[in-house]
Amino acid sequence: MTTNAMLLDTYADYLVDNEFRLLISIDGDEYSQGYRVDANGDNSFNRVYNNIKLLQSKYPEYFEKYVMFNSVLHNRNSVESIYYFIKNTFGKAPSISPLSDTGIRPEKRNEFNQTYQNYRESIESSSDCERLKEDLFINNPQTISVLDYLQFKSGNMFRDYNALIHSSILESEILTGTCRPFSKKLFVTVNGKIIQCEKISHDYALGKITENEVILNFEFIAQKYNSLINILARQCQVCGRKKYCPQCVFRIDNLQTSSVKCRSFLTSDKNDILETRALIYLRKHPSLYKKLMSKSVARR
Ligand code: SF4
Repeated sequence: MTTNAMLLDTYADYLVDNEFRLLISIDGDEYSQGYRVDANGDNSFNRVYNNIKLLQSKYPEYFEKYVMFNSVLHNRNSVESIYYFIKNTFGKAPSISPLSDTGIRPEKRNEFNQTYQNYRESIESSSDCERLKEDLFINNPQTISVLDYLQFKSGNMFRDYNALIHSSILESEILTGTCRPFSKKLFVTVNGKIIQCEKISHDYALGKITENEVILNFEFIAQKYNSLINILARQCQVCGRKKYCPQCVFRIDNLQTSSVKCRSFLTSDKNDILETRALIYLRKHPSLYKKLMSKSVARR
C-alpha cells in the first residue's frame, strides 16, 4: 500500500498485524516536503516524520522488512539530498521519481517547467556523482540501461517463470511498456474510481467502488486496454525498443488523436547506439554484472 503517512499513527497496528508492504511518500527534509501540504495548506513534514519515527520505534522488525520509501524529485530537492536524507534518517534507500510530465494543462506548463527537475541531470550535478551512482545502484539510469540490456539481450535473465518457459511466444508480443491491468498495482481515487495505477489520468478508470458494490467488467477492461495499446501498434512494429519498451501508453498525451506519436520511439540505429553505451558502461563497471544478476528483479 502506498501512503503519505498522514494517518499512519492511527492505522499502524492494523497494517503491522496484516503485514502490509508499505510504500511511504516523502520528498526529503522539511523544505523538500514543501509541496505536500495538509488541509490547512501547512507543510506536512513534522506530522509525517513523527508518524514514521513512531512506526519505526514501535515495530522495528516490521519497519525493516516491509517499509519502503518513494520520493518525488522537483525544484526543492535533488537526487542527492533525497537519497542521503532518507538513508540517514530512516536507514532505507528510497526510489526517486521525477514529476510526471503528462496531462499538464497548457496554462500550467510554465509553472510545471519551473518545478520540474531532470533525474539524470540532478545526479550529474551532485557533489560526489560517482559515489551517488554507486549508492543508488538500481536507481542509477546507467545501471538501468545495463539491466535492460542483460534482461532482453543476454538470454540469461527472465522476468518471471512464464517468460522462462514461454520466452519464444512472449518475444513475439508487442505490449508496449504498459502494465497489464492489475498485474502490478491498483489505485482507487477518493471518488471510488478504480484505475490501474496512480500515475495515469482518471479518464482511464476501469471500474468503480460504490456504497454497495465493486463494479468491474473484465470484458470491457480487456477491450479498452487492447484498443488503447493497438493505437501505437504500427509504430511499435518498426520501433527499436519494442523488446524492452519503457513507454506506458497511458502516459502519452492525446493518445486517442489520429496523429499521436510515441514520445519514446527510437529507430533501430539509435537504439543500437544506446545498447553500445550500456555495454561500454558495463565494461567500465564489470562488478555490476554479478550484482545485477544476483540482486535485481527483472523490469518491465
Ligand atoms: S517506445 Fe516503441 S515499442 Fe514502446 S510504445 Fe513507443 S513505439 Fe511502441
